[in-house]
Amino acid sequence: MENQELLAKMSTVNPHHKSKGLAKGTTRRPAKELCSDCGLCDTKYIHYVKDACAFLHQQIEHLEENTHQRSRDLDNENELYFGVHQKMLSAKKRIPVEGAQWTGIVTTLACKMLTLGLVEGVVCVQNTKEDRFTPLPIIARTPEEIIAARVNKPTLSPNLSILEEIEKSGLKRLLVIGVGCQIQALRAIEDRLGLERLYVLGTPCVDNVTRAGLQKFLETTSASPSTVVHYEFMQDFRVHFKHEDGSIEKVPFFGLKTNQLKDIFAPSCLSCFDYVNGLADLVVGYMGAPFGWQWIVVRNDTGAKMLDLIKDELDIQSVESKGDRKAAVQQSIPAYDKGVTLPMWAAQIMGLVIERIGPKGLEYARFSIDSHFTRNYLYVKRNHKDKLKEHVPSFAQKIVEQYQLPDP
Ligand code: FAD
Ligand code: SF4
Ligand code: SF4
Repeated sequence: MENQELLAKMSTVNPHHKSKGLAKGTTRRPAKELCSDCGLCDTKYIHYVKDACAFLHQQIEHLEENTHQRSRDLDNENELYFGVHQKMLSAKKRIPVEGAQWTGIVTTLACKMLTLGLVEGVVCVQNTKEDRFTPLPIIARTPEEIIAARVNKPTLSPNLSILEEIEKSGLKRLLVIGVGCQIQALRAIEDRLGLERLYVLGTPCVDNVTRAGLQKFLETTSASPSTVVHYEFMQDFRVHFKHEDGSIEKVPFFGLKTNQLKDIFAPSCLSCFDYVNGLADLVVGYMGAPFGWQWIVVRNDTGAKMLDLIKDELDIQSVESKGDRKAAVQQSIPAYDKGVTLPMWAAQIMGLVIERIGPKGLEYARFSIDSHFTRNYLYVKRNHKDKLKEHVPSFAQKIVEQYQLPDP
């Protein structure tokens, strides 16, 4: 698709807004520029937005108590960083799901829960016919529909816009797949959905963008933006772009054009402190695991039962932690702030050195959390100073306090 045509499409609305004759910008979004477009406000549950919206009422610790019967132990480093959990592990599917983001653990578990009859529907995100990266939230009723939702749509996605369909369709047992801001709003209203059983399968999430922001990222960073099928910020400190022909293009983090990219991230994501999806029952990501493996956080008994359903299909190993992230995080704070870009040859060398001696496993995950929380703390302090105290959860405050931040 030509760039002009694509950009024109991006400025149109997502299909859910469209189907209701509402355009984004004309829909009600009480969180204004901080809105992550979680979709709640496209439904009658907008009534609860003041309480439920992650950006109007930060209440992760309270919702952790409701969901897991306790909030995280701030004196335990793993809980401070990764939230309430019973265990963490690294896993991969023995037979990966073709076309999934990683090995397809999310898709496999969702299909299993549906076929076993544990749930009657699965909230997940397909893409529109016109564009592989424009999200189309659905309630899947068949494994085929879940499989069609595999792979990340690396853009803000109004997953909760389908909530009203739950009541209409009479669903009583539901699995929701989603990222932190969507799950916070969902947890805040879950008692009002009339469900008998809700399961939540979360993924970590950071640095999300609008569809237009994604286009700018692809065009600024990849040599062939139109053929990118998916990408990930990897543990080897490079962005891996997978192209239509199966080839992988690797661009070092340190060579990213940060001066041009600083503004592409959505303000919601620059104000977000729920990177690890603290309110899901089970979280499936990658950043705490060795390269090629997925990182699994079992938060409660429900999450443990969910994981048990597919454990026969997985290779499993324990999580590890190596290196010391702190100096690298401290150095990255002013570099990011000033939008410094290294020439590509220097970035390649820096990437190789850091890969060899840098943080691994859980320490890499802490590196990523520290870097994003310090950046986001500065963003909120500079742009929404009046919200700072209420909006930053105490665990994030404690993490940020380990570093020296530049003056606002
Ligand atoms: P698949 O089987 O391919 O399934 C992917 C599932 O994700 C699908 O069911 C789909 O419904 C859902 N999905 C796709 N796009 C979205 C979206 N925009 N919003 C909500 N749900 C969606 N993991 C990390 O460890 N560190 C990160 O920094 C990180 N950032 C992420 C950013 C985004 C925007 C997303 C969506 C995920 C991120 N993840 C991150 C999670 C990781 O990339 C994988 O999604 C996860 O490991 C599951 O892989 P899989 O192969 O099992 O998923
Ligand atoms: Fe509404 Fe969700 Fe946006 Fe908050 S983030 S304003 S709940 S759509
Ligand atoms: Fe939502 Fe946070 Fe992900 Fe942005 S980074 S989409 S606010 S969970």
